[in-house]
Amino acid sequence: MDFEFSPEEKKFKQEVHQFFQSEPELCAGFMEEWHGGEGFGPKTWALLRKLGEKHWLTPTWPKKYGGLDLPYVYYCIIQEEMSYWIGLYACIGTAMAGPVILKCGTEEQKDFYLPRIARGEIEFCLGYSEPQAGSDLANLQLRAEDKGDYYLLNGQKTFNTRCHFAQYHWLAARTSSEGPKYRGISLFIVDLKTPGISITPLMTFSGERTNDVFYDDVKVPKSSLVGEPGMGFYYIMEALAYERVTPVGAYQRLFEQLLEYIKESGKGSDPVIRQKIAQLAIELEVCKLFTLNVVSAQSKGIIPVYEANAAKIFITETEQRLANTVVNIFGLRGQLQRDSKWNVLNGMFEFIYRQSLTELIMRGTSEILRNVIAQRGLGLKRR
Ligand SMILES: Cc1cc2nc3c(=O)[nH]c(=O)nc-3n(C[C@H](O)[C@H](O)[C@H](O)COP(=O)(O)OP(=O)(O)OC[C@H]3O[C@@H](n4cnc5c(N)ncnc54)[C@H](O)[C@@H]3O)c2cc1C
Repeated sequence: MDFEFSPEEKKFKQEVHQFFQSEPELCAGFMEEWHGGEGFGPKTWALLRKLGEKHWLTPTWPKKYGGLDLPYVYYCIIQEEMSYWIGLYACIGTAMAGPVILKCGTEEQKDFYLPRIARGEIEFCLGYSEPQAGSDLANLQLRAEDKGDYYLLNGQKTFNTRCHFAQYHWLAARTSSEGPKYRGISLFIVDLKTPGISITPLMTFSGERTNDVFYDDVKVPKSSLVGEPGMGFYYIMEALAYERVTPVGAYQRLFEQLLEYIKESGKGSDPVIRQKIAQLAIELEVCKLFTLNVVSAQSKGIIPVYEANAAKIFITETEQRLANTVVNIFGLRGQLQRDSKWNVLNGMFEFIYRQSLTELIMRGTSEILRNVIAQRGLGLKRR
């Protein structure tokens, strides 16, 4: 058992670390746009293109499509560094849509989408949830009717983040009402500029924007279908296992900032604060081990459903404990936002305090993931 990276992997990690360290303006620009609620703006696209030039957005993909043909562990190294420096560690195109296109897409889809995803030129947004289909995704109702030479789409999506700046909707739609509900779902790629689509903002309590998306007699070509009709649910479940991989770089950085503040402010001599900080250090270490466990499974070609779910629960709940503890340590000033001159550490932990709640819901709620662990990991019968 060896938890160390190999010398080549360490060298690569150092190279990625130095890249971000040498780009403070682009990193700050990203944080400004993202935490300002805007999503991807010009500074984010500029950063993504730079990463794309190095092929670091898709290092495991074949060279033909803009990758480096590297083992999975290199992708995780990049994700950890991205998470540490900017908080974002993956795009929907690179982490979810791209891998499914690579596996199940047509040659035309691969040639058209994959190189542009790899270059950091386009982004997708996830079109799964609907007002009556969140955890129970198989219940989704947005219809895609086969009209011979095109599909006609009608219905509503909700909580579809990134649709206001992404170019493409990675859309799950119902193509059949026959048989089990999950067998009637298909996946489509829809250009968000197609007539009949309207997008309205849905603001979360952390100030980040997500969206309602309405489809009103939207015509899409037959070539928009990804993979086999009726197989969408399976593709989504596989891609979700990858989406639930949660790097801890961002939390590590927050913890380092907190530790520095505690040392400089003299609060480190308080016995209660010492206990809390030591506890957080332990939990962060457990998070890192969870992540390595997932990476190890993926490196062996295993889809880590059980491991990734356990990691997602523990890591996001640790983030919540981290934010909770910090806001308590800071006292009333800990509740001030970044536009207050009395805030602590630029109000970052106040923001994380609110944002950490959404993390427990998006990418699958903690309750649903515990159910999956009970059933698929521990062999308990489905209720
Ligand atoms: C900030 C944010 C961003 C999001 N971004 C996207 C996106 O980009 N694309 C997208 O498609 N979706 C997105 N979502 C939607 C997200 O995936 C759903 O909110 C989530 O799956 C829960 O679905 P729901 O909101 O319908 O809640 P429900 O499914 O109605 O659940 C409500 C509560 O009941 C619990 N519950 C439900 N069923 C069970 C059960 N069987 N056992 C135990 N407890 C249960 C849940 O855990 C939850 O606490 C986002 C959500 C948020 C908050």
